[in-house]
Amino acid sequence: MIGELVDGVTTRIGGLGRAVTGRFSDNTIRLGVTGLSRAGKTVFITSLVANLLDRGRMHGLRAAADGSIRTAYLQPQPSDTLPRFDYETHLDAMTGADPQWPESTSAVSELRLSLKVQPTGLLAGMRGTRVLHLDIVDYPGEWLLDLGLLEKSFAEWSEGALVRARSRAQGAAFVELVEGVDPTAKMDEGLAKRLAEAWTGYLRAAKDAGYSDCSPGRFLLPGQMAGSPALTFAPLPEGGGRGSLGKEFERRFEAYKREVVRPFFRAHFAQIDRQVVLVDALGAIHAGPQAVDDLRVAMTDILSAFRPGRNAFLTEIFRGKRVEKILFAATKADHLHHAQHGQLTRIMEALVEDAKRRAEYAGARVSSMALASLRATTEDRMTHEGEELDMVRGVLESGKRAAFWPGALPDDPQALLSQGRRGETAWLDGDFAAMTFVPQGGALKPGEGPPHIRLDRAAEFLIGDRL
Ligand code: GDP
Repeated sequence: MIGELVDGVTTRIGGLGRAVTGRFSDNTIRLGVTGLSRAGKTVFITSLVANLLDRGRMHGLRAAADGSIRTAYLQPQPSDTLPRFDYETHLDAMTGADPQWPESTSAVSELRLSLKVQPTGLLAGMRGTRVLHLDIVDYPGEWLLDLGLLEKSFAEWSEGALVRARSRAQGAAFVELVEGVDPTAKMDEGLAKRLAEAWTGYLRAAKDAGYSDCSPGRFLLPGQMAGSPALTFAPLPEGGGRGSLGKEFERRFEAYKREVVRPFFRAHFAQIDRQVVLVDALGAIHAGPQAVDDLRVAMTDILSAFRPGRNAFLTEIFRGKRVEKILFAATKADHLHHAQHGQLTRIMEALVEDAKRRAEYAGARVSSMALASLRATTEDRMTHEGEELDMVRGVLESGKRAAFWPGALPDDPQALLSQGRRGETAWLDGDFAAMTFVPQGGALKPGEGPPHIRLDRAAEFLIGDRL
């Protein structure tokens, strides 16, 4: 009880601090949800909102379990110019008669969920009912990777991008094209377009092969900017003088930074209070050691955005404010029997270890976990060739039911990560399989959201202290 009282006092003092700086609102949390494409953002937001509206499966969220959250409802969002996250359509897709995965995130969107909260127990009489607005902002993790571009000149960016393209099989067609081009020759729009298309094709193929660093982010997810000059360039091995292709690409690269990257960080990123970074670690493990190493590097780059002190531009837009909490969540954990969830969490922790230490120095609270936003499987134990295996079962896209064992994740995550660092092209001891199960569907029970794994714990970490 004393703990609760003390908590109440600090909250109020915290509130005073916020009023003074004027940057936080006491009754609003802006929760950023990001991750590279296909990491599971859309499914996460949809299931989180459904499970906050109907809290029967949210025992791990204290304010839901003890009844402090009286009601939850969706409201018009505060930003008039941002698309609304299409919650209803996504939920229908996931839980309808013919359950499907929803359409993935392709740009920034927002949704406001309001929670009416009345503390229970001793504090019930002391504090009245209050409303907490949870503004959820969904945006592609690829856009965070663009932060790294701000510190680079066109020549520096080109050099690194070309090294990566040359080292990946998917880059062959672009490399062949660019090697036949003279960047000092006169600018030619047709050639510019062909180069940009070849570059985009390479990024898309690299992404499909499991690589994470596929920037500039808007090339894969252009939204309304498709075809604009700021997205019609590619890395070149050398620059050029006035009127040349090289000079024009350099100008467009600068325009991309100025017109695309900076406005996003200023308008959206700098307003975020709490952040969840979703990671398809199992997908990268399935794709092989190089994809895992690439994911580790991409995570470090993404996380540098959460250390404003390091970067003059971020320092300027954050003005002393910071992201208070960051959760790294390995998604789709329902592909694994719970006996292996600990290993997945440790891999997640190891992937973000360096970056995490630095974010903690910058004052944010950081945590890692393995979760499934929408559980599409059930657990089972089977004997296979004399060995007892902990498996999961689900329904494949073909409609067939299947049992699945993805392989044994090692207890020590370094056993995986070190193979990526050494540049191995295949896992030394066997493979990790992947399978896509469809959501199980069926009508939701009254008072319950869709089935999940640890979504309630994620919510407790991200917003529990403010409820
Ligand atoms: P986004 O690009 O980050 O918005 O990713 P989505 O939320 O669209 O998820 C991409 C895909 O990952 C989905 O189509 C599903 O196939 C899969 N997925 C996402 N979350 C889960 C989950 O909790 N369980 C399972 N089994 N698959 C998931």
